[in-house]
Amino acid sequence: MSRQMIVGNWKMNGLRESSRELVAALLAGMPKTGPDVVICPPFTQLALLADSLASTSVGLGAQDCHQDPSGAHTGDISAPMLKELGVSHVILGHSERRQEHGELDETVREKAVAAAKAGLTPIVCVGETNDQRENGDYTDTLGWQIKGSLPDGFCGIVAYEPIWAIGTGLAATEAQIAETMTFLRQELVRQFGEAGKAIKILYGGSVNADNAVAILSIPEVAGALVGGASLKADAFLSIVGAA
Ligand code: PGA
Repeated sequence: MSRQMIVGNWKMNGLRESSRELVAALLAGMPKTGPDVVICPPFTQLALLADSLASTSVGLGAQDCHQDPSGAHTGDISAPMLKELGVSHVILGHSERRQEHGELDETVREKAVAAAKAGLTPIVCVGETNDQRENGDYTDTLGWQIKGSLPDGFCGIVAYEPIWAIGTGLAATEAQIAETMTFLRQELVRQFGEAGKAIKILYGGSVNADNAVAILSIPEVAGALVGGASLKADAFLSIVGAA
């Protein structure tokens, strides 16, 4: 299996001092060999972290980008702007953006195109609600999200994040993750043929120091997208160590 990837999604957390301290603690504890690690702070800390992470093995990611490279979009940030700061990855279509900013699959797809064009690796999130899981129609939702959010020739990463598992402390079970990963792989192969076999799929949703080993051992799980536990150096380093 290729190297796993652990992505820390800080969401809207981190002022200058706390960000500096967290990164220093992470760098001090980072294993010499291990998974690929990418940290995604809020936009306001990207420049600071770009300096701290320069010439380290830890990559820098952002949490969103606009679909246009520039223009009249008050408050937005474009992919070339991120690239210029030293960003390598960008999370797109996170359920919090889909819910709070009304992002549709089509927008996510356009953003993925823009990210790739600027030389960034998109990490596109998909995931079902609790109702969809309970009704048993979650595969329809995931299938549509894959079909709608990933552009032709997609060269990036997919993150499976069941909405009900995000920030709840209630990760999906190993059986649920394994079964859903198999389904997502089928959809990726259906959409992209042979290339669909190589697309990495991360799991996200209440990954922590205690469940990381089990989750990261599931076949098809290429790594983890970590929210809450990425804000604590010890917890995040344990997850990195589990990969
Ligand atoms: P969580 O968040 O680890 O706090 O559940 C994951 C995410 O939203 O990416």
